[in-house]
Amino acid sequence: MKNLSRNILRATLGLPLQGLLLRALFLSCVPFVFGGQAARAQSAVGDGYCGTGSAPASTLRWIEGLHTSGVLNELATEQVQSTVFLPIKVHFIGNDAGAGRYTLEQLSRNLCELNNHYRNTGIQFFLRGDINYINSSAWYNLPSFATAGTINNLHNASRVINVYFCNLSAMQLCGFANFPGTGEPATTFRQGAIYLSIACSGAGNSTFAHEMGHFLSLPHPFQTTSDAPAAAGAERVTRLANEVAPRLPANCATAGDRFCDTPSDFRPDRWNCPGINTTERDINNDLFNPVGRYYMSYADDACQDSFSVQQKAAMKATVTVTNGQAGPRLYLTSPPIAPYDTILDSRPTHLHPLNNSTNNVPNLTFRWNRVPGATMYLLRISRQFTFTTLIEDRIVNDTTYQYVGSSLNPNVDYYWSVKAINHKVTCGSYSASTTGNYWKFRTVGASNIRDMVTTADFRFYPNPAGSDGGWIFLEESYAKDQQTQMEWLDIRGRIVHTQVLDGDGIHQALFPAGGLAPGLYTVRLNNERGGARVGRWSLR
Ligand SMILES: [Zn+2]
Repeated sequence: MKNLSRNILRATLGLPLQGLLLRALFLSCVPFVFGGQAARAQSAVGDGYCGTGSAPASTLRWIEGLHTSGVLNELATEQVQSTVFLPIKVHFIGNDAGAGRYTLEQLSRNLCELNNHYRNTGIQFFLRGDINYINSSAWYNLPSFATAGTINNLHNASRVINVYFCNLSAMQLCGFANFPGTGEPATTFRQGAIYLSIACSGAGNSTFAHEMGHFLSLPHPFQTTSDAPAAAGAERVTRLANEVAPRLPANCATAGDRFCDTPSDFRPDRWNCPGINTTERDINNDLFNPVGRYYMSYADDACQDSFSVQQKAAMKATVTVTNGQAGPRLYLTSPPIAPYDTILDSRPTHLHPLNNSTNNVPNLTFRWNRVPGATMYLLRISRQFTFTTLIEDRIVNDTTYQYVGSSLNPNVDYYWSVKAINHKVTCGSYSASTTGNYWKFRTVGASNIRDMVTTADFRFYPNPAGSDGGWIFLEESYAKDQQTQMEWLDIRGRIVHTQVLDGDGIHQALFPAGGLAPGLYTVRLNNERGGARVGRWSLR
């Protein structure tokens, strides 16, 4: 990303936002980009900047050529009529422990919104392949474009749009993307990627649509013009080719973003639509009046709802063959999308565990009804009905999932839900019970009964004990809701004493040692669910 433009430097350092950012920096120990985002989040959703630099000369020549060949003006309508499907490969970057990463709920909703934003462009997107989970704190808090290049080299898949979700606050960015022919690795089918900030990828954020526009050749509408709005090379406001001297004629096809149906724009910072209330003028002394509804502008997300006709035609030309000319990302349409079905209702019915039921762990099995058209199910489990922190967040390719992890604790309430999707259809909701968008279950017993090998969960007192015996202290998982048999074995392995502990919640039991000879004994605990413990106790 060597063509990081002066636009971005201006955007991050030279504009009114600076005051807010600096105040937050001095008032708080919180990294100032968070303070700045929080302060601005009150007025708009997803504020923040795009790190995509100026479009390279190759992209600008490509769009100019589309003017020359008539594609933008003559074929625009025809271009968007037949839909092409472009594959997206998703990479989730989390910290070293896998925490902090984007969730499947957020991804499915974001893909749904992306396809809605592109619904009139003749382009739609679908998931190809599994999600690539990357655990790296150094990459999760992405420090630089160079690091992104390193990640691309290692992880980019071929013939797809590689999209990475991570934390871009250190770079003060909402996202960035590579234009065709730029980025790492320098091999056409794997080249470049889109990086999206998790903070700017919530509901209603249009960051994904904006960065995808760059990936499909679209410059910012203020490209170059924002550097010097009144310069001869800036895009002029006029659209007339026959202006009378000393006024200069329109240059929209060869300046700015090269599109003539996006009004000249000079504004490389976030602004609220519709009125820009500026006094900025171009070389003809005409007032700029940019349009904030286009996704490629820097207007606030809430303003944006469309691409211009010429922007749509250029994106479509980028991934197809027009007038005998292959677009620079034609490779994305081969191989074509697999067939997909619609999904009328994304919410399966739960079969197990039943709502408000009590269940044993481990090996708890989750089951739900098949949903017509679905090929994947998003399963999530949480301690909170809000699903704020997820214990499980996974794609299941069947209607059954057996939990084998160790994060479900005994005697705790959990919430779970499932959403049916396929590689193209990701809209809809998670399953709902009558009480909310979740089902609830409680666990009994201990989740770690089978794999404990130490004696840390029970102990004897005193040790060694005298002839009057002693006490055994049990951890709660053995003391509650299940019977445990205690066996004493002498040094030759013979069972010399047995005793049943009732599991009535009492953590200690008296052991009468009368009749046993002094020496070292092995004590075995076996509970009714198959758990086993072994310890040693000496008698004096
Ligand atoms: Zn951008």
